[in-house]
Amino acid sequence: MSDSAEATEYGAYFCANPQCVLHVRAGDARVRGHGNWARLPDGRTVGRSRYLGQLLCDLCGRALLRAQGLA
Ligand SMILES: [Zn+2]
Repeated sequence: MSDSAEATEYGAYFCANPQCVLHVRAGDARVRGHGNWARLPDGRTVGRSRYLGQLLCDLCGRALLRAQGLA
């Protein structure tokens, strides 16, 4: 049940943060490999993970954890 929901979510945006440069769909040229890596304009490559239930790039994820006092 959650499998299809999860797949849809994973196919939506690389990073769920609308303010993020990586708020792009999986087919975007910035997204690498099978969609689990993306390249920033400055050349850095970041991964993504689930942070507090949101699928975010590592930069936004860490910022969220810091904002929550968790990191
Ligand atoms: Zn992000």
